[in-house]
Amino acid sequence: MSDLPFLPFALPEIGEDEIAEVVDTLRSGWVTTGPKARRFEQAFAEYLGKNGDDGQTECIAVNSATAGLHLALEALGIGPGDEVITTTHTFTATAEVVRYLGADVVLVDIDPLTLNIDPKLVEAAITPRTRAIVPVHYAGLAVDMLAILDMARKHGLRVVEDAAHALPTTLERELIGTMGSDATVFSFYANKTMTTGEGGMLVTRNAELAKRAKVMRLHGMNRDAFDRFTAKVPSWYYEIVAPGFKYNLTDIAAALGLHQLKRIDAFQARREQIAQAYFDAFADLPLILPPQPPEGDKHSWHLYVLRLADELEMERDVFIERMFAKGIGCSVHYIPLHLHPYWRDRYDLRPEQFPHSQKAYERMLSIPLYTAMSDADVQRVIDAVREIALG
Ligand SMILES: *Cc1c(COP(=O)(O)O)cnc(C)c1O
Repeated sequence: MSDLPFLPFALPEIGEDEIAEVVDTLRSGWVTTGPKARRFEQAFAEYLGKNGDDGQTECIAVNSATAGLHLALEALGIGPGDEVITTTHTFTATAEVVRYLGADVVLVDIDPLTLNIDPKLVEAAITPRTRAIVPVHYAGLAVDMLAILDMARKHGLRVVEDAAHALPTTLERELIGTMGSDATVFSFYANKTMTTGEGGMLVTRNAELAKRAKVMRLHGMNRDAFDRFTAKVPSWYYEIVAPGFKYNLTDIAAALGLHQLKRIDAFQARREQIAQAYFDAFADLPLILPPQPPEGDKHSWHLYVLRLADELEMERDVFIERMFAKGIGCSVHYIPLHLHPYWRDRYDLRPEQFPHSQKAYERMLSIPLYTAMSDADVQRVIDAVREIALG
């Protein structure tokens, strides 16, 4: 066992500016969705707009990425009888929202090099019932969106990007969130590249989609509470136009988001620095290191995923146990959906249908990579991985 304190797998980095902004919100008398949530949406649109935006980007703050994915697919009219294609190698949230709407999930395997959804397998999975594709930018590496968008155009399909890992990630120098998909959804969950505790952002350039999502975000009301209470005409009046959801982001959470967003490029630079230290330190080990982004593009480095090479005769679970014994938290991203009882039984799935995801799952672990790590923490992870991998 290690004498050093336990190094958790992930920790947020919350600064004094975030804390002061939250306190300001608490003292302001307006704690739920209000001026700060709106400012956060505007700041997010400006951030994405840095990359030559057309000014049409709508950012809709929600209380989770799961909510954002649900709202986007709902606004696109996905429902019973429809099929939505996504990767088996993801968190269940990506797929569960499709079931909320009564539509069916079609899972496909990953490309073993990128660990992202394989566009060729997406194309092979298209049926007359297919309505949408939900690519996931796994670990923060961009999916081949040009292939996905081309295919979507050819087959008349919608595309909603699960970008829970992908702030800030670029493809062909453009930020994820500015591509030609119908919508992109970011997560601000506690362990993501920036956090509001819980939260998410639905980004779209489709005005109809934005309008529907804003109504459905708050009970299917045609005006949100902040508008009602601050409008010049005193207005207690609203109309319910649909059975909507309760997916609005609070100003307390938005207060965190305003300051986390200002730091997102610095956060990414630090993550990249840690990733680079890992690449340098692990090059000679019997490990498959994560895929690098294309030359000139950015990886968010939300996750640093190692795979044990076949020549390393050690089970993944044992590797993780030894890391824990050295006081270092690790995780696995993900237990593929095809192995979970719900998805397995509903769609009668077998591991042989997803050989690359299955193989990756059996040999993978995610090691700590976050901005709150000190250089000494990084070195400690390096020393532990080297010692265990070299036996
Ligand atoms: C975290 C995550 C989500 C869900 O995000 P929440 O904000 O927690 O709802 C969805 N998809 C992926 C791939 C994630 O990692």
